[in-house]
Formats: sequence, structure tokens, C-alpha cells
Amino acid sequence: MRDHVGNRAVVLGGSVAGSLAARVLAEFYHDVVVVDRDTVSGVSVTRKGTPHAGHAHGLHARGQLILEELFPGFTEDLVRKGYPVGDLGEMRWYFNGRRLPYTKTGLLSVTPTRPILEHEIRSRVAALANVTYLERHDILGLMSAPGGGRVVGARVRSRDHAEEVVLDADLVVDATGRGSRTPAWLEEMGYERPSEERVKIGLAYTTRFYRRVPGSFEDTWSINPVASPEHPRGAFFGLSDQDRCIVSLTGILGDHPPTDPEGFLEFARSLPVPDVYEGIKDAEPLDDPTTFGFPASVRRHYEGLRRFPAGLAVLGDAVCSFNPVYGQGMSVAAWEAMTLREHLREGRFDPAVFLGEIGKVVDNPWQVSAGGDLAFPGVEGKRTPETEMGNAYVGRVQYAASKDPEVAKGFMRVAGLIDPPSALMEPGMAARVMDASGDMTTSDGGVPVMVHPPAEQKLPGAA
Ligand SMILES: Cc1cc2nc3c(=O)[nH]c(=O)nc-3n(C[C@H](O)[C@H](O)[C@H](O)COP(=O)(O)OP(=O)(O)OC[C@H]3O[C@@H](n4cnc5c(N)ncnc54)[C@H](O)[C@@H]3O)c2cc1C
Repeated sequence: MRDHVGNRAVVLGGSVAGSLAARVLAEFYHDVVVVDRDTVSGVSVTRKGTPHAGHAHGLHARGQLILEELFPGFTEDLVRKGYPVGDLGEMRWYFNGRRLPYTKTGLLSVTPTRPILEHEIRSRVAALANVTYLERHDILGLMSAPGGGRVVGARVRSRDHAEEVVLDADLVVDATGRGSRTPAWLEEMGYERPSEERVKIGLAYTTRFYRRVPGSFEDTWSINPVASPEHPRGAFFGLSDQDRCIVSLTGILGDHPPTDPEGFLEFARSLPVPDVYEGIKDAEPLDDPTTFGFPASVRRHYEGLRRFPAGLAVLGDAVCSFNPVYGQGMSVAAWEAMTLREHLREGRFDPAVFLGEIGKVVDNPWQVSAGGDLAFPGVEGKRTPETEMGNAYVGRVQYAASKDPEVAKGFMRVAGLIDPPSALMEPGMAARVMDASGDMTTSDGGVPVMVHPPAEQKLPGAA
């Protein structure tokens, strides 16, 4: 243990964000207890507490780099076990029906199924001597000190004995995901709830697994025609191990991919490129299609609260649940865990400072995804000149990326959360974008864009 900050930390939720937080907390607390309502030990299939885990997930560049730092050898181990890992630029990406050239970015994407990835993370965290997973326990609420200025523990109840237990803690970390009850708990303790921002996308994923067709996936392991305003239906089609592939079809604003096999195939046929339909039409299905609805992206602005109790932190989807098609959530959870680590290296936990730091981590990914969603007519949310201009430029970047591998590379660095979106506006890159998109027409999704915004205007995500 590096610097002792407290005796016990309790993490609420033992999924990706909770396990990564526990990994970091184990460096600073004698004892770390992770509570989850499900049996999680050894589980590498979709479970009740994480129904979204049955759908396509990719851990992109920043998340991969962080996992490698927290668990040296993580990526190589996945490769050894036969899970797909490769260069982010060598996935087959389509935007607006146009294919991006394969390009070596030097950035990795890791795409076993989400339950496998979660299991690989959790088994490493559970192996730490001072971390315990308290499974099959419902989280009931927080315990606070008299006066309510400090959280001192959590109340949990066993699912097997209906027995209520109080877990004392110097720090409680809420990683219970999108359904987090911290806003309600704050209110009960006499604090304000965080303000909430929502972008109503009306998205659904419908997913099916297939046996890999011999000879398929020769030049890539992942084929992704991503939804765009001109083609709002999208898909993620990739190997999940050597023998199986996963297809998640995506549709927005109520145009949801069906769960009946014929409807599923028909939806795949309606995509702007044939790759997914051709890849599955004769393949052997391994299960029935299942669907998951995602009505809106939700950001809770904890960084804006004037008062917050000591001894409490929030991270992961509990803070911000991003539109999943951008593949950001797990990387942001990992980034937040690293932010927690940096914060605790100061030798104490200050919730106001920490939540401000988390707000900064969320800013750019939120502007990319929530801002990007506003390019779709019909999506409800607040449109500003900044978002309109940013989306017009991103459309141009995607067009240019289909012609210029250097632009594709720059775009992947932003999508992989390595560079901020403002990197795409740097003079050298902006010149390439304008050169390569000079012949773009309105039927390509092209709208006029100012390359040099007036000084008082900033593109989404610009520092
Ligand atoms: C369809 C879909 C696809 C996605 N694809 C990607 C992708 O490609 N790349 C990417 O990076 N991200 C993706 N994401 C986002 C990603 O799944 C999450 O951002 C990430 O897993 C972090 O989640 P979390 O750990 O904060 O919360 P969750 O994964 O929701 O976990 C919360 C945990 O808390 C437990 N819990 C909750 N309430 C209680 C309670 N009262 N008592 C006890 N236990 C409780 C649950 O059992 C669960 O284990 C996707 C999301 C969706 C919906």
C-alpha cells in the first residue's frame, strides 16, 4: 500500500467502474469491500444486474492503455486466450456509408464480449489481498454521521438471508451505474440533487451471436457501419472469440431492430453497406436476438453542486451514461479510476475537488457523443451554434477520413479518447480535412462550415 488514506473503502457496484475503482482504492485503503446484488465471482456471461452486457462492446484506445497500466500484461493475456485485439484503425469503419481506409494508428481496441472483459478485470481485482467482493447483497442506502456532513458507510442486505448489514467506511464510492440512487440519497440527507442533462436518442440495440463462417474476417475482425444522420441505422459486427461473432444492430428514435429472426435479417439488409447482411445471411445463429433500449444519454452534473458530503464519491455510468454507439463508457470509467488514483495520491479525499476533476474527464466525451447525437434531426436536446458548427465539421472530417488516411488516423485518436476534439481543428489537420472534403456535396451530408470559428466560439470539446 502506497499512502494510507483510510481504513476501509466500500464500493457500491462490482461491474467495470466499481472493479476499476476498487483496484485503485486497494493502493490507499487497508480494506476494500465491493458490493453487488449479483453473483459476480467467476461469472463471464451476461447477468441480471448488467443486461446491456449482452450487446457489442469495444474497449478503445484510452481504456486499453489504462487497463494495461493497472494490470500489466492484460492485453497480451487476452490475445493468448484467443480474444480479438487489434489496431483501432484496422477495424472496418463506415461513416455515412463511406469506408475509411485501414490505417495503422498504433492504438489498440480490445473486443471480447463485455462479460468476458468484465470477468478478466474483476478476477484480477478480486485476487488483491485487501479486496473482497460482497456478492448477492442489495444496496439499501448510505449511513451518515450526525448532522449529515459525512457519509460513514452503507446499508446492504443479503439476498439469501434478508439480513441487513451496515458496512462502516471512510469512503463510499457509488458505481451502481445509470440507475444510481445518489441523487435521491443526497436529497434525503438535505443536499441538492445534481442537475441532469438528457439527450433523447430513443436508441435500441438488438443482438445475435453466430458461429464464425470459415474464411470470414480475413482482413479485419470488426466491421462497423456506424449510424449517421443520412443513414440512422447502424451495426457492430465482429469476432468475439475465434469461433463466434456478434452482431448488434442499432436504430434510433423508435426505429428499433426487431427481435424476430426474419425482421433482424431484413434490418441488416437495410444498412447502407452489404457487409453485415452478407456476413450473417448464411451463418449459423447461436441464440435468439435480444434487445436493449437506451432512451437517452444522461449526464449528472455533480461538479456543479455547492455542497456535497465528505466520504462519498460517484463515478462511471452513475455520473454519465453516454450513447453507447461511441464506445466511450468503459474507457471513461477507467479514466475516472485513474483520476481517483491521482487524487488520493494527495493523501486525502476531497469530494468537491474530485467531482470537479470527474466533470473535466466527462466534458470532452460528452460533447463528442451528446453533441454528435444532436446532428440527428428529431433528437431532443439543446442545440447551440457550437454544436451545429461542430457537427458540420465532424461530417466533413468523416468524409475526408474516407479519402485521407492521416485524417482517418486523427479521427481515430479522438474517437479513442486519446486526443481532444480540438485536435481535429489544428491548422495542419484542418487543411487536410478541407482539401479532402473539397468535393463534398449536400447529398454527402455536407453543409458549409467555418474552419476558423470566431474567437468567442469554440467547437464542442475544444479546451
Ligand atoms: C448497449 C450498450 C453498449 C455499450 N457499448 C460500449 C462500448 O462499446 N464501449 C464502452 O466503452 N462502453 C460501452 N457501453 C457502456 C458501458 O457498458 C458502461 O459505461 C460501463 O460498463 C461502466 O458501467 P458501470 O460499471 O458504471 O455500471 P454498470 O455496468 O451498469 O454496473 C453497475 C453494477 O452495480 C450493481 N448494482 C446496481 N444497483 C445495485 C443495488 N441496488 N444493489 C446491488 N448492486 C447494484 C449492478 O449489479 C452492476 O453490477 C455500452 C453500454 C450499453 C448500454
